[in-house]
Amino acid sequence: MSDCLFCKIVEGKIPASKVYEDEDILAFKDIHPARPVHILVIPKRHITSLSTVAPEDAAVLGKMLVKANEIAVAQGSPDGFRVIINTGRVGQQEVPHLHMHIVGGPDPVGPMLKRI
Ligand code: 5GP
Ligand code: ZN
Repeated sequence: MSDCLFCKIVEGKIPASKVYEDEDILAFKDIHPARPVHILVIPKRHITSLSTVAPEDAAVLGKMLVKANEIAVAQGSPDGFRVIINTGRVGQQEVPHLHMHIVGGPDPVGPMLKRI
């Protein structure tokens, strides 16, 4: 997609601090880290969100999860981490290119959600 921020990162038109890349996925540091380790993992092919995935996206989505631990350990979170995929308006997704946050670091990341 020509006007998509994360597609532009994939295409090298916008710089990013890349930490892992293969033919299907790209991982890079979040520009505003919420924890000492905060990585975004994206499919290279544009997928807008989890609300628009199709059966043929299963392999790339699986790969994002399968690679998560390796990326977290390499980035300094060897004792676990959290993955978050914000989706759509209710999930407060800001960038409309599906991305998985990996957050971690030496200390526990905190409660899962603020209770209402
Ligand atoms: P969302 O709220 O959509 O789940 O998360 C979007 C994330 O993308 C945010 O954590 C934000 O800091 C990050 N982000 C937004 N623009 C850029 C950018 O240009 N480069 C990088 N590396 N991260 C970005
Ligand atoms: Zn995109």
